[in-house]
Amino acid sequence: MNRRIFLKNLSKSVVFVPLLIKDLSANIIQNNTHETNNSFDIEPDIYLDNKDKYDLLSVRNKLKLIQRHVGYGNFNLISFDRMIKVAKYSSKIQRFNKKELEFLESIFYYNPSSHGFFGHRISSNITDIIKLKEVIKIPRTGHYLFKGQPEKTYHEMKKDIGNTIILTSGVRSIVKQTKLFIDKVYKTKGNLSVASRSLAPPAFTYHSIGDFDVGKKGYGYANFTERFALTQEFLEMKKLNYIEMRYTVNNKDGVRYEPWHIKVI
Ligand SMILES: [Zn+2]
Repeated sequence: MNRRIFLKNLSKSVVFVPLLIKDLSANIIQNNTHETNNSFDIEPDIYLDNKDKYDLLSVRNKLKLIQRHVGYGNFNLISFDRMIKVAKYSSKIQRFNKKELEFLESIFYYNPSSHGFFGHRISSNITDIIKLKEVIKIPRTGHYLFKGQPEKTYHEMKKDIGNTIILTSGVRSIVKQTKLFIDKVYKTKGNLSVASRSLAPPAFTYHSIGDFDVGKKGYGYANFTERFALTQEFLEMKKLNYIEMRYTVNNKDGVRYEPWHIKVI
């Protein structure tokens, strides 16, 4: 992240918000609901504190190396304690220092409603683990599903819609969600408001308890855009009506419309 760009964005969002617009947004919140406020998008965006910038970069790099070390599939399940051990015993990665650990804890335990994310906290303890016996690996996807309802739903979808529907993201441990969130914050140059609209902060994902994402085979990145809602696979999913969408248009959580995300829990 470039320091100048970072500061420029920071000043743009905090200093130059006209008072008039702030007052207007206050009225809208009073008279309507959160989603109205989100769709107007006039609240100033909130950025990562400048002092956390270097920890974000070093933690991001370590998580990338750990994912490479344990493999993409295993990384979906890795616990916080295991992450620390892997780093400690690899001379290439090196142990997490105190500041990095504090940063990891702070992005797990903070309250993201301060930057417009209103979803429910799903995980309460950063060291929560996913038991191997509770999940099943889905061949050729690099992803896992929880046994029981999620696995059943997925297989029903395959049977009813066909093999062109695929699992694009299943069970995510706290560490996995942390990596995805940090990558998103990095990509948005520290803009927490924008990042959390497309990715839940580490403790707030339903992927840690059963939800999963599906896509169309061979559709690549478009599976994670609204274009997925135009596919035959999606139309079938809707028609067959055994799934319920978690993140609809203008949802109250402050998350973008996600037609590919299957609500199980
Ligand atoms: Zn999802």
